[in-house]
Amino acid sequence: MAEQESLEFGKADFVLLDTVNMSEFMANLKLRFEKGKIYSYIGEVVVSVNPYRSLNIYGKDTIEQYKGRELYERPPHLFAIADATYKAMKRRSKDTCIVISGESGAGKTEASKYIMQFIAGITNPSQRQEVERVKNMLLKSNCVLEAFGNAKTKRNDNSSRFGKYMDINFDFKGDPIGGHINNYLLEKSRVIVQQQGERNFHSFHQLLFGAPEKLLRTLHIQKDPAAYNFIKVGGVVKSAINDAAEFKAVADAMKVIGFTAEEIQTVYKILATILHLGNLKFAMDGDSVLIENSKLVSVIAELLSTKSDIVEKALLYRTVATGRDVIDKQHTDQEASYGRDAFAKAIYDRLFCWIVNRINDIIEVKNYDAKIHGKNTVIGVLDIYGFEIFDNNSLEQFCINYCNEKLQQLFIQLVLKQEQEEYQREGIPWRHIDYFNNQIIVDLVEQQHKGIISILDDACVNVGKVTDKMFLDALNTKLQKHAHYSSRKLCATDKTMDFDRDFRIKHYAGHVVYSVIAFIDKNKDTLFQDFKRLMYNSSNPVLKNMWPEGKLSITEVTKRPLTAATLFKFSMIALVENLASKEPYYVRCIKPNEQKSPLLFDDQRCQHQVEYLGLMENVRVRRAGFAYRQYYDRFLQRYKMISEFTWPNHDMRSDQEAVKKLVECCGFQHDVAYGKTKLFIRTPRTLFNLEDRRTQMI
Ligand code: ADP
Ligand code: MG
Repeated sequence: MAEQESLEFGKADFVLLDTVNMSEFMANLKLRFEKGKIYSYIGEVVVSVNPYRSLNIYGKDTIEQYKGRELYERPPHLFAIADATYKAMKRRSKDTCIVISGESGAGKTEASKYIMQFIAGITNPSQRQEVERVKNMLLKSNCVLEAFGNAKTKRNDNSSRFGKYMDINFDFKGDPIGGHINNYLLEKSRVIVQQQGERNFHSFHQLLFGAPEKLLRTLHIQKDPAAYNFIKVGGVVKSAINDAAEFKAVADAMKVIGFTAEEIQTVYKILATILHLGNLKFAMDGDSVLIENSKLVSVIAELLSTKSDIVEKALLYRTVATGRDVIDKQHTDQEASYGRDAFAKAIYDRLFCWIVNRINDIIEVKNYDAKIHGKNTVIGVLDIYGFEIFDNNSLEQFCINYCNEKLQQLFIQLVLKQEQEEYQREGIPWRHIDYFNNQIIVDLVEQQHKGIISILDDACVNVGKVTDKMFLDALNTKLQKHAHYSSRKLCATDKTMDFDRDFRIKHYAGHVVYSVIAFIDKNKDTLFQDFKRLMYNSSNPVLKNMWPEGKLSITEVTKRPLTAATLFKFSMIALVENLASKEPYYVRCIKPNEQKSPLLFDDQRCQHQVEYLGLMENVRVRRAGFAYRQYYDRFLQRYKMISEFTWPNHDMRSDQEAVKKLVECCGFQHDVAYGKTKLFIRTPRTLFNLEDRRTQMI
């Protein structure tokens, strides 16, 4: 039994702690980590601590051990939750989802991959070809997404710089027949700049170190990372990852998934274009701007299948409509650099979305029979960026942390709601428990008119020169009374913040100071129309298709596009709605230390994560009612040897009555409640006592 796995490994379920307080919780978590038990439960929630070493616990034999078992029958494992999810979906035809959360480097992406492996491992006993194909595609797609969406950061050598939600569709037999991926906000600023000690996306390094000479020649790329501004900024080029081998693996995966040769070539051309763009230098010559290394322009034109003068014009001029006239307005060198960077970021971001769409084209449910007949159910897996606090926090961190507020809100609602519903279903009275409800912070960010995103959007629609500082002033005026907002202006004594630059949000997970610098720019996310038209007019059909909006002429473009933060907000609202419509399971990942060490359990860092993941509240809520619950028949199966009334079989009218008799025999009647189908035990001690009695009998 999971709860009794072995006391030397601590309590497998935190709900069974003798006393619930932070120090007991942490002691148990640490003990388990040190004993190599990286998984524990809080009821049905998996708590996972990154082991930073390979554990031999994900093989085929382990998959077999967990397949079809009940959660409590085996030691805690991701596979147990994956199996529970799968069973819930299959038995009750319910859509389910697994929400994986935790900070960067805590092990979310690895967990999502093991879950996928488990699902692939237990399905399709009939070896249907279509199912095998779908499974293969789903697994292969990860490799491609990671190449383009992951990068080395200080926290994680393989950090996902985008959010991912993947649906796996199952037919009535419970076999996967397709899937769909939603991606969220790629950190595209990384394309042009990286912090010291970090890298650009893996894809660039893979190209440089893995592409065959011939390909590099056609791309006019040399094998020297120091030659490219966009990849040398971070100062590191090597990582634990073997870029050359990965290049091949990714190329193969793209082929297997079904990318055409032309598409794959275009992908490389876009990467090369970006590297060349980064080396373009602009200078002023009197009043006009020029490109210092204009040879590069023809290289870029060649890669984008267009003409040099078109590229040059898009880089140096901007077409603007004034009334009915259309004029070409020349940039300053600064504007030209800005435009170039925006272009580089935009084509990478578009490439990434295009890759996701292509994968979706291929993995989406094809078998229309399966779609129409029988029940088609879904398991969703969410692997999304965790809470981030950097030295310098900008709009990206603001969005990521807002996303975590939304997910925490969902967790609060669902975990509490689920408990409540179970008590209701079973006819047992519910006692309310206090917890911090972060809705107030969600509102601070997203509320119409009054929220930070709305205030930011207001600053962005103004045509005049609204500065970041003016945006900060607006925040200070409108939010001065908000309990979770502060700034130097509102709190003059707080020397940690800059008067003209910073504001602070008290997130549920901790306080974060954001610098408003570039908030407006990043939110507007302007890409001059000229670049869109350039891409659309390319004679490479793959590129042309990526940029359909380039079709519009300057006078047709009137609508102001939605801002980056608002788009993100909409995508988060849709995501949460989607998750809420499914039966959720949770994996809460913890990062044991900053050194990526398998040996170190940094008490302070871990406790902080336990706090902000709300794990203590989770335990309390779970225990506020009843620590343990079990179906009557299963309870009897396990404990019937304790009483002569139930051993070997009972002759009472129902299992419920037999359980009642057994409980009274032991004298536990005051510590239990009888639900319609389950017995509820309030304190863990009773359960231990039952276990002791059982052991004595066998
Ligand atoms: P996140 O997605 O939360 O940022 P990852 O899943 O990428 O974190 O994990 C970061 C690194 O930690 C991985 O590259 C791997 O080296 C290690 N790691 C994470 N989970 C495991 C695990 N279950 N077993 C072994 N190593 C792991
Ligand atoms: Mg990740």
